[in-house]
Amino acid sequence: MDQIVLKNVKKTFTTKALGTVTAVENINLNIKEGECFSILGPSGCGKTTTLRMIAGFEDLSEGEIYLGGKPVSIKEKGLYVPPENRGLGMVFQAFAVWPHMNIFDNVAFPLKVQKRPKDEIESRVKSALKSVSLDGMEKVFPGDLSGGQQQRIALARAIVVNPKVMLLDEPLSNLDPKLRENMRFEIKALQKKYNFTIIFVTHDQSEAMALSDRMLVMDMGKMVQIDTPTNLYNHPATKFVHDFLGQSNFTNVVEKDGKIYLEGDDKHPLPVKAPTDRKGEMLMATRPNTIEINHNDGFEGKIIKRIFLTDLIEYLVDIKGQVIRVQTPHRNMFAANDTCYLKFPSPMWYEREDEKAAAERAKRMLI
Ligand code: ADP
Ligand code: MG
Repeated sequence: MDQIVLKNVKKTFTTKALGTVTAVENINLNIKEGECFSILGPSGCGKTTTLRMIAGFEDLSEGEIYLGGKPVSIKEKGLYVPPENRGLGMVFQAFAVWPHMNIFDNVAFPLKVQKRPKDEIESRVKSALKSVSLDGMEKVFPGDLSGGQQQRIALARAIVVNPKVMLLDEPLSNLDPKLRENMRFEIKALQKKYNFTIIFVTHDQSEAMALSDRMLVMDMGKMVQIDTPTNLYNHPATKFVHDFLGQSNFTNVVEKDGKIYLEGDDKHPLPVKAPTDRKGEMLMATRPNTIEINHNDGFEGKIIKRIFLTDLIEYLVDIKGQVIRVQTPHRNMFAANDTCYLKFPSPMWYEREDEKAAAERAKRMLI
């Protein structure tokens, strides 16, 4: 069954300073029961707005939202179910815990609002705290805890209402990298235990990849691509998605008579198979860890720099004025100024970037 459905959802904001901004448009989603679904995209692309509309904190400008088969927001009919009646758990980026309440009261709050009996509140809070490893800390105040522990309080408070759906808006972005990784596993473990549907919002692609069954990539308020993490990584639909989901070289090339040349060169075809569905000017995208580098076979280049990464060596290679990043596990193959040869076994091909789009994206991030 589809647990969360969005149909043609649109949201515009009008402010004096900026006029009307379309935060999101044409959002159509079907998220299955028990699915862990991520929304990924750069700052300003509309992730939080989408989540807030699902939660009921934000009215829609157009469209319909259904939870568990029931309508909760239908703009045309003026139908709107308030957040507290949507059966959702929520955790947001900022540590939204109340500093003047101890841990017990923080977690008990939603149940007190629902006027549940005292015994029930006690046992449910206890079990929620146990599931985030904060049992025994009921009397402690949030200010005495680390960022990671505070975020666990927020998780416990979301779990305590037995939600069918858990909305997580960048819940890990204020934590240090090691802790973030641990919390990812804990969120997955909680999902397994309670079997809720998750929408996880992040601008961090590795976080989204590690957690999700499917991901939506958004750009400038629009859906760009929806798929499993593996399919998105291996078959990005656009240059934007390719760029967002990992490191890449984007090289300006030109196709001529079925051969691919670096821009500005028409004598030395690259050792690649030209795409069948594109002609003329285009972008060649190559992930640094897929390029083969060796001493005698391929396209000639010159090592500009050698950089030691933790598990790999990265070479910056000049090929006729364009710089290519190459990553390889083989250490000490080359030094700066050496001649090397490159092969590109699996390039992907895109249209050249539209400069207008890049400017527009930057503007949304500033707001
Ligand atoms: P994200 O969460 O992906 O960073 P948001 O959903 O917060 O993006 O914002 C999407 C766009 O909508 C941005 O351009 C943002 O400035 C604008 N926006 C969001 N909330 C408001 C608001 N309350 N008033 C005016 N503009 C807003
Ligand atoms: Mg946001």
